[in-house]
Amino acid sequence: MKSLVIAPQDVSHGSPVHITQEPIETRAGECRVAVTLAGICGTDLQVLEGYAGFSGVPGHEFVGVVETAPAGDRHWIGRRVVGEINVGCGTCSWCRTDTANHCPARSVLGIQGRAGAFASHLSLPADNLHEVPDVLDDETAVFVEPTAAACQILTQFSFESTTRVAVIGDGRMALLVGQVLRTTGAAVTLLGKHERKLRVASDLGMTARRSTDELPVSHFDVTVDVTGRPTGLLRAMELVRPRGTVVMKSTFHGETPITLWPAVVDEVTLVGSRCGSFADAIALLADGRVHTAPLIAGTYALEEHVTAFDTARSKLKVLLRP
Ligand SMILES: [Zn+2]
Ligand SMILES: [Zn+2]
Repeated sequence: MKSLVIAPQDVSHGSPVHITQEPIETRAGECRVAVTLAGICGTDLQVLEGYAGFSGVPGHEFVGVVETAPAGDRHWIGRRVVGEINVGCGTCSWCRTDTANHCPARSVLGIQGRAGAFASHLSLPADNLHEVPDVLDDETAVFVEPTAAACQILTQFSFESTTRVAVIGDGRMALLVGQVLRTTGAAVTLLGKHERKLRVASDLGMTARRSTDELPVSHFDVTVDVTGRPTGLLRAMELVRPRGTVVMKSTFHGETPITLWPAVVDEVTLVGSRCGSFADAIALLADGRVHTAPLIAGTYALEEHVTAFDTARSKLKVLLRP
Protein backbone atom coordinates (compact mmCIF):
# COMPACT_ATOMS: atom_id res chain seq x y z
CA MET A 1 0.00 0.00 0.00
CA LYS A 2 1.26 3.39 -0.99
CA SER A 3 1.40 6.50 1.15
CA LEU A 4 2.89 9.96 1.38
CA VAL A 5 4.83 10.37 4.62
CA ILE A 6 6.17 13.33 6.58
CA ALA A 7 9.25 12.15 8.46
CA PRO A 8 9.77 13.95 11.79
CA GLN A 9 13.43 14.81 11.15
CA ASP A 10 12.56 16.14 7.69
CA VAL A 11 10.33 18.96 8.88
CA SER A 12 13.23 21.34 9.48
CA HIS A 13 15.19 20.12 6.46
CA GLY A 14 12.97 21.48 3.73
CA SER A 15 12.12 18.15 2.08
CA PRO A 16 9.21 17.19 4.24
CA VAL A 17 7.58 14.35 2.30
CA HIS A 18 8.38 11.10 0.57
CA ILE A 19 6.43 8.12 -0.79
CA THR A 20 6.55 4.74 0.93
CA GLN A 21 5.13 1.35 -0.01
CA GLU A 22 4.81 -0.01 3.51
CA PRO A 23 1.70 -1.80 4.80
CA ILE A 24 -0.86 0.57 6.25
CA GLU A 25 -2.26 -0.52 9.57
CA THR A 26 -6.00 -1.08 9.84
CA ARG A 27 -6.65 -0.55 13.53
CA ALA A 28 -8.53 -3.16 15.55
CA GLY A 29 -12.27 -2.54 15.39
CA GLU A 30 -11.96 -0.16 12.43
CA CYS A 31 -12.71 -0.24 8.69
CA ARG A 32 -10.12 -0.17 5.92
CA VAL A 33 -11.04 2.36 3.27
CA ALA A 34 -9.47 2.43 -0.21
CA VAL A 35 -9.00 6.15 -0.93
CA THR A 36 -10.33 7.23 -4.35
CA LEU A 37 -9.60 10.95 -4.07
CA ALA A 38 -8.14 13.18 -1.36
CA GLY A 39 -8.13 16.97 -1.11
CA ILE A 40 -5.27 19.24 -0.05
CA CYS A 41 -6.37 22.03 2.29
CA GLY A 42 -4.59 24.89 4.03
CA THR A 43 -4.21 22.82 7.19
CA ASP A 44 -2.21 20.19 5.24
CA LEU A 45 0.11 22.91 3.96
CA GLN A 46 0.50 24.12 7.54
CA VAL A 47 1.16 20.53 8.71
CA LEU A 48 4.03 20.43 6.20
CA GLU A 49 5.36 23.59 7.88
CA GLY A 50 5.24 21.93 11.30
CA TYR A 51 1.70 22.76 12.48
CA ALA A 52 0.55 20.39 15.28
CA GLY A 53 4.03 18.77 15.21
CA PHE A 54 2.61 15.97 13.08
CA SER A 55 4.68 13.31 11.38
CA GLY A 56 3.30 10.38 9.38
CA VAL A 57 0.71 10.34 6.58
CA PRO A 58 -1.06 13.72 6.25
CA GLY A 59 -4.46 14.39 4.62
CA HIS A 60 -7.98 14.44 6.08
CA GLU A 61 -10.33 15.19 3.17
CA PHE A 62 -11.21 12.07 1.20
CA VAL A 63 -13.75 9.92 -0.54
CA GLY A 64 -13.18 6.18 -0.79
CA VAL A 65 -14.68 2.70 -0.70
CA VAL A 66 -14.79 0.45 2.38
CA GLU A 67 -12.72 -2.71 1.81
CA THR A 68 -12.81 -4.43 5.18
CA ALA A 69 -14.86 -3.94 8.33
CA PRO A 70 -15.01 -5.67 11.69
CA ALA A 71 -17.85 -8.04 12.63
CA GLY A 72 -20.97 -5.99 13.24
CA ASP A 73 -19.95 -3.36 10.66
CA ARG A 74 -19.66 -5.68 7.63
CA HIS A 75 -22.62 -3.95 5.94
CA TRP A 76 -20.21 -1.06 5.24
CA ILE A 77 -18.05 -3.18 2.90
CA GLY A 78 -18.28 -1.92 -0.69
CA ARG A 79 -19.94 1.36 0.25
CA ARG A 80 -18.62 4.70 -1.04
CA VAL A 81 -17.88 6.88 1.97
CA VAL A 82 -16.49 10.10 3.39
CA GLY A 83 -15.31 10.23 7.00
CA GLU A 84 -15.29 12.46 10.06
CA ILE A 85 -11.72 13.04 11.12
CA ASN A 86 -11.82 13.04 14.95
CA VAL A 87 -11.72 9.69 16.78
CA GLY A 88 -12.45 10.00 20.50
CA CYS A 89 -11.62 7.63 23.35
CA GLY A 90 -15.30 6.64 23.55
CA THR A 91 -15.56 6.85 27.32
CA CYS A 92 -14.92 10.45 28.51
CA SER A 93 -17.71 12.96 29.12
CA TRP A 94 -17.17 14.56 25.68
CA CYS A 95 -17.44 11.22 23.89
CA ARG A 96 -20.46 10.16 25.97
CA THR A 97 -22.29 13.34 24.90
CA ASP A 98 -21.45 12.77 21.22
CA THR A 99 -18.80 15.49 20.95
CA ALA A 100 -15.69 13.37 20.30
CA ASN A 101 -14.37 16.41 18.36
CA HIS A 102 -13.25 17.74 21.75
CA CYS A 103 -12.19 14.49 23.43
CA PRO A 104 -8.84 15.31 25.07
CA ALA A 105 -7.51 11.87 24.08
CA ARG A 106 -8.73 12.04 20.47
CA SER A 107 -6.70 11.27 17.39
CA VAL A 108 -7.33 13.24 14.21
CA LEU A 109 -6.97 11.80 10.72
CA GLY A 110 -3.71 13.05 9.19
CA ILE A 111 -3.28 15.75 11.86
CA GLN A 112 -2.79 14.13 15.25
CA GLY A 113 -1.81 10.56 16.15
CA ARG A 114 -3.43 8.90 13.13
CA ALA A 115 -2.31 8.20 9.55
CA GLY A 116 -4.30 10.24 7.03
CA ALA A 117 -5.78 10.21 3.56
CA PHE A 118 -2.78 10.87 1.27
CA ALA A 119 -2.43 7.12 0.87
CA SER A 120 -3.99 4.25 -1.03
CA HIS A 121 -5.78 3.18 2.17
CA LEU A 122 -6.76 4.57 5.56
CA SER A 123 -8.30 3.25 8.77
CA LEU A 124 -11.35 4.76 10.52
CA PRO A 125 -14.10 3.42 12.79
CA ALA A 126 -17.44 2.76 11.05
CA ASP A 127 -19.02 5.36 13.38
CA ASN A 128 -16.98 8.06 11.59
CA LEU A 129 -18.18 7.09 8.11
CA HIS A 130 -21.01 8.60 6.05
CA GLU A 131 -22.26 6.94 2.89
CA VAL A 132 -22.06 9.19 -0.17
CA PRO A 133 -25.37 9.47 -2.09
CA ASP A 134 -25.18 8.55 -5.81
CA VAL A 135 -25.99 12.12 -6.80
CA LEU A 136 -22.54 13.23 -5.56
CA ASP A 137 -19.61 12.24 -7.77
CA ASP A 138 -16.18 11.67 -6.18
CA GLU A 139 -14.93 15.14 -7.21
CA THR A 140 -17.80 16.71 -5.23
CA ALA A 141 -17.83 14.25 -2.33
CA VAL A 142 -14.19 14.99 -1.53
CA PHE A 143 -15.43 18.47 -0.48
CA VAL A 144 -17.78 17.13 2.23
CA GLU A 145 -15.25 17.54 5.08
CA PRO A 146 -14.35 21.21 4.41
CA THR A 147 -18.01 22.03 3.62
CA ALA A 148 -18.96 20.51 6.99
CA ALA A 149 -16.37 22.77 8.63
CA ALA A 150 -18.05 25.75 6.94
CA CYS A 151 -21.48 24.50 8.14
CA GLN A 152 -20.24 24.63 11.74
CA ILE A 153 -20.55 28.44 11.60
CA LEU A 154 -24.33 28.05 11.07
CA THR A 155 -24.55 26.40 14.51
CA GLN A 156 -22.59 29.21 16.16
CA PHE A 157 -24.55 32.28 15.02
CA SER A 158 -28.20 32.78 13.96
CA PHE A 159 -28.01 34.19 10.48
CA GLU A 160 -30.95 36.09 8.99
CA SER A 161 -31.54 37.55 5.56
CA THR A 162 -30.62 40.97 6.99
CA THR A 163 -27.27 39.78 8.44
CA ARG A 164 -24.27 41.55 6.89
CA VAL A 165 -21.37 39.12 6.59
CA ALA A 166 -17.77 39.71 5.56
CA VAL A 167 -15.59 36.73 4.70
CA ILE A 168 -11.90 37.66 4.86
CA GLY A 169 -9.90 35.52 2.43
CA ASP A 170 -10.45 34.23 -1.11
CA GLY A 171 -8.99 30.72 -0.85
CA ARG A 172 -10.79 27.35 -1.26
CA MET A 173 -12.12 27.42 2.33
CA ALA A 174 -13.26 31.05 2.12
CA LEU A 175 -15.20 30.25 -1.06
CA LEU A 176 -16.95 27.34 0.71
CA VAL A 177 -17.67 29.46 3.82
CA GLY A 178 -19.11 32.27 1.68
CA GLN A 179 -21.39 29.88 -0.21
CA VAL A 180 -22.60 28.10 2.94
CA LEU A 181 -23.39 31.41 4.69
CA ARG A 182 -25.22 32.66 1.59
CA THR A 183 -27.65 29.72 1.85
CA THR A 184 -29.15 31.55 4.88
CA GLY A 185 -30.10 34.49 2.65
CA ALA A 186 -27.48 36.71 4.32
CA ALA A 187 -25.57 39.21 2.17
CA VAL A 188 -21.96 37.99 1.92
CA THR A 189 -19.04 40.25 0.98
CA LEU A 190 -15.82 38.35 0.32
CA LEU A 191 -12.47 40.11 0.52
CA GLY A 192 -9.41 38.83 -1.28
CA LYS A 193 -6.25 39.63 -3.19
CA HIS A 194 -6.48 37.43 -6.27
CA GLU A 195 -8.36 38.57 -9.36
CA ARG A 196 -9.21 35.03 -10.50
CA LYS A 197 -10.42 33.84 -7.09
CA LEU A 198 -12.51 36.99 -6.63
CA ARG A 199 -14.12 36.30 -10.00
CA VAL A 200 -15.06 32.81 -8.78
CA ALA A 201 -16.59 34.39 -5.66
CA SER A 202 -18.63 36.82 -7.68
CA ASP A 203 -19.76 34.07 -10.10
CA LEU A 204 -20.96 32.18 -7.01
CA GLY A 205 -23.15 35.12 -5.96
CA MET A 206 -21.00 36.91 -3.41
CA THR A 207 -19.99 40.56 -3.45
CA ALA A 208 -16.28 40.27 -4.18
CA ARG A 209 -13.98 43.10 -3.08
CA ARG A 210 -10.23 43.55 -3.04
CA SER A 211 -8.83 43.47 0.47
CA THR A 212 -7.21 46.85 -0.17
CA ASP A 213 -10.59 48.45 -1.07
CA GLU A 214 -11.98 51.08 1.29
CA LEU A 215 -14.78 49.38 3.19
CA PRO A 216 -16.92 50.84 5.96
CA VAL A 217 -15.28 49.85 9.27
CA SER A 218 -17.46 48.60 12.12
CA HIS A 219 -20.15 47.72 9.59
CA PHE A 220 -20.59 43.96 9.47
CA ASP A 221 -22.66 41.91 11.92
CA VAL A 222 -20.39 38.90 11.41
CA THR A 223 -16.88 38.72 10.03
CA VAL A 224 -15.13 35.42 9.33
CA ASP A 225 -11.36 35.14 9.09
CA VAL A 226 -10.51 32.39 6.60
CA THR A 227 -7.19 33.78 5.43
CA GLY A 228 -4.95 31.26 7.17
CA ARG A 229 -2.75 34.24 8.15
CA PRO A 230 -2.38 36.34 11.31
CA THR A 231 -3.43 39.54 9.48
CA GLY A 232 -6.87 38.10 8.70
CA LEU A 233 -8.07 38.36 12.27
CA LEU A 234 -6.98 42.02 12.45
CA ARG A 235 -9.07 42.83 9.39
CA ALA A 236 -12.01 40.82 10.74
CA MET A 237 -11.85 42.82 14.00
CA GLU A 238 -11.69 46.13 12.09
CA LEU A 239 -14.75 45.40 9.97
CA VAL A 240 -17.07 43.97 12.65
CA ARG A 241 -19.62 46.29 14.26
CA PRO A 242 -19.82 46.84 18.03
CA ARG A 243 -21.44 43.76 19.63
CA GLY A 244 -20.81 41.87 16.42
CA THR A 245 -19.25 38.42 16.08
CA VAL A 246 -15.83 37.50 14.71
CA VAL A 247 -15.52 33.88 13.64
CA MET A 248 -11.98 32.48 13.62
CA LYS A 249 -11.65 29.83 10.92
CA SER A 250 -7.88 29.97 10.29
CA THR A 251 -5.56 27.33 11.68
CA PHE A 252 -1.92 28.10 11.09
CA HIS A 253 1.47 27.42 12.57
CA GLY A 254 2.50 30.49 14.55
CA GLU A 255 1.15 33.36 16.60
CA THR A 256 -1.28 36.21 15.96
CA PRO A 257 -0.02 39.56 17.27
CA ILE A 258 -3.19 41.52 18.01
CA THR A 259 -4.38 44.47 20.10
CA LEU A 260 -7.43 43.15 21.87
CA TRP A 261 -8.78 46.17 23.75
CA PRO A 262 -11.07 47.24 20.87
CA ALA A 263 -12.83 43.89 21.22
CA VAL A 264 -13.46 44.68 24.89
CA VAL A 265 -14.65 48.25 24.25
CA ASP A 266 -16.87 47.17 21.34
CA GLU A 267 -18.05 44.06 23.21
CA VAL A 268 -17.20 41.87 20.26
CA THR A 269 -17.77 38.12 20.48
CA LEU A 270 -14.85 35.99 19.29
CA VAL A 271 -15.79 32.47 18.20
CA GLY A 272 -13.39 29.66 17.33
CA SER A 273 -14.83 27.31 14.71
CA ARG A 274 -13.62 23.91 13.53
CA CYS A 275 -15.36 20.73 12.34
CA GLY A 276 -19.06 20.52 11.53
CA SER A 277 -21.96 18.31 10.45
CA PHE A 278 -21.29 15.94 7.55
CA ALA A 279 -25.03 15.35 7.09
CA ASP A 280 -25.63 19.10 6.59
CA ALA A 281 -22.70 19.32 4.17
CA ILE A 282 -23.88 16.33 2.12
CA ALA A 283 -27.37 17.88 1.92
CA LEU A 284 -26.06 21.26 0.69
CA LEU A 285 -23.77 19.65 -1.90
CA ALA A 286 -26.47 17.21 -3.08
CA ASP A 287 -28.97 20.09 -3.50
CA GLY A 288 -26.45 22.01 -5.58
CA ARG A 289 -26.59 24.90 -3.10
CA VAL A 290 -22.81 24.76 -2.70
CA HIS A 291 -20.73 24.46 -5.88
CA THR A 292 -17.31 22.86 -5.91
CA ALA A 293 -16.39 22.41 -9.60
CA PRO A 294 -15.14 26.03 -9.94
CA LEU A 295 -12.85 25.43 -6.96
CA ILE A 296 -10.84 22.55 -8.45
CA ALA A 297 -7.39 23.61 -9.67
CA GLY A 298 -6.07 20.18 -10.65
CA THR A 299 -5.81 16.47 -9.85
CA TYR A 300 -2.44 14.77 -9.38
CA ALA A 301 -1.04 11.32 -8.62
CA LEU A 302 0.54 10.85 -5.21
CA GLU A 303 3.96 10.73 -6.92
CA GLU A 304 3.39 14.27 -8.23
CA HIS A 305 3.13 15.63 -4.68
CA VAL A 306 5.72 18.38 -5.16
CA THR A 307 3.75 19.94 -8.02
CA ALA A 308 0.47 19.24 -6.22
CA PHE A 309 1.51 21.06 -3.03
CA ASP A 310 3.05 23.94 -5.02
CA THR A 311 -0.19 24.34 -6.96
CA ALA A 312 -2.21 24.21 -3.72
CA ARG A 313 -0.09 27.06 -2.29
CA SER A 314 -1.22 29.50 -4.96
CA LYS A 315 -4.38 28.08 -6.51
CA LEU A 316 -7.66 26.69 -5.19
CA LYS A 317 -8.44 23.02 -4.41
CA VAL A 318 -5.90 20.43 -5.50
CA LEU A 319 -6.93 16.76 -5.45
CA LEU A 320 -4.69 13.73 -5.09
CA ARG A 321 -5.60 10.41 -6.68
CA PRO A 322 -3.71 7.71 -4.72
ZN1 LIG B 1 -8.86 20.67 6.01
ZN1 LIG C 1 -13.18 10.83 24.83
